[in-house]
Amino acid sequence: MAAQNLNTTTIPLYTPESRPAIASYPTDEPALDSYGRRIDYLRISLTDRCNLRCVYCMPAVGMHFMPRPELLTSDELVLVVRAAAKAGFRKIRLTGGEPSLRADLVELVRAIKATPGIEHMAMTTNGLRLKKLAQPLKEAGLDRVNVSIDTLDPQKFRQITRGGRLEQVWEGIEEADRVGLHPIKLNSVVVRGLNDAEVPQLAALTLTYPWEMRFIEVMPLTGVANVAQDGVVKSAELIAQLESVYGPLESLGAASSDPARRYRIPDAKGKLGFISSVSDPFCSTCNRMRLTADGRLHLCLLRDDEVDLRAAIRGGASEAEIEQLVRHAVALKPWGHGLPEGVLPTLRGMSELGG
Ligand code: SAM
Repeated sequence: MAAQNLNTTTIPLYTPESRPAIASYPTDEPALDSYGRRIDYLRISLTDRCNLRCVYCMPAVGMHFMPRPELLTSDELVLVVRAAAKAGFRKIRLTGGEPSLRADLVELVRAIKATPGIEHMAMTTNGLRLKKLAQPLKEAGLDRVNVSIDTLDPQKFRQITRGGRLEQVWEGIEEADRVGLHPIKLNSVVVRGLNDAEVPQLAALTLTYPWEMRFIEVMPLTGVANVAQDGVVKSAELIAQLESVYGPLESLGAASSDPARRYRIPDAKGKLGFISSVSDPFCSTCNRMRLTADGRLHLCLLRDDEVDLRAAIRGGASEAEIEQLVRHAVALKPWGHGLPEGVLPTLRGMSELGG
C-alpha cells in the first residue's frame, strides 16, 4: 500500500455490534515489516503536555493540547502493550510531552513491566520531577532513564526551555543515578548558535560520571522546522570539534538497533553518543514504532503515516484484534524518512511523538 493511502480514516472503525474480521497475520512469530526488519521497540507518548517549552520542540505560541478524554487511559495503554508484546515487541520507552506529568505513571510502569514478553523499559524525561519519582519508578520496574539536558549554563537553560531550572534537572539526574536507573543517558539536541559551543563542556561530564552523553541532530518537526532549517550541526562536525579539545576519540561502534554511534574520550568513565538522524539516517536498522497519547501507532518519526488503535479499542475490539492491528501497522511501516527528498512530516510535532 502506498504510504499516502494510509491514514487514520482508512483503518476500520470498530463498533461493538459490527467488528470486521481482520485476523490475517500469523500470530506465532514476531512481527517483521515488509523490509524484513524485526520491529520490537514501542515508544509510548503518555501525554502531549510538557512543563517546559524547548525552542526546538514546541513553537512559542499556538500550541493546542489534546483534550484529556482523547488520551488513552491506563487500561487502554496496558491493553495495547499486551497486544504489542504478543506481536513480538520486547522493549518499551515512555515519553511525551513529559511522561512524568501523567498522574498514573508509577502504576503504569508496574503494569507494563509485568506484561509477559516485555523485557526492558526505559523513560525519556526532562528530569524536573525525577527527584521525587526516581525511587518509586525504580521500585515499579523501570530499568533506566534518558534525561534531556542541552546546556550546563542555568541562564542558557532557561532560555532554551523557556523557563526551566537547570538545578532541578540536575537533582533529578543525581537521584536517578543514586537509585540505579542505569545506565544514565543524557540527551542534548544541538542547535547551531544556541548550544553548539557548549558541546565540549557537556562531553566533559563523561570524564567524571559513567553516563552516556548523547548529541542529537535537530530534526525539522512540525512547528519548529525553522529552528532545524539553519540549526543542524552534523555529528561529524561535533566529533571534529571534540577531537580538537580532547584528542582522538576512541570509537566504540553502535550497539545493535541503537541509533547512537558511540565514542569515548580517552580514559573517560562514560561514553559519548552521536545520533545523526539528518546527516546519516539509520532507517535500515530501525526497530521502532511510536504510540501517540491519543492511541495512534505512528509508523515513522518523520512521516505522517498512522494506524488508529483507539477507535478499535473504544469500539470493543479484543486483545487478539488489537494484536492484528499492531501487526498490520508493522507490515505498513515505511522504509524510512524522506528528508533528503524534502519530504517533511506535517501532522504532529515532536511533543506529540516523543522523539
Ligand atoms: N519531555 C521529555 C524530554 O524532555 O526528554 C520527553 C519528550 S522529548 C520530545 C524527547 C526527546 O526529543 C528529547 O530528548 C528532546 O530533546 C528531543 N527533541 C525534541 N525536539 C527535537 C527536535 N526537533 N529534533 C531532535 N530532537 C528533538
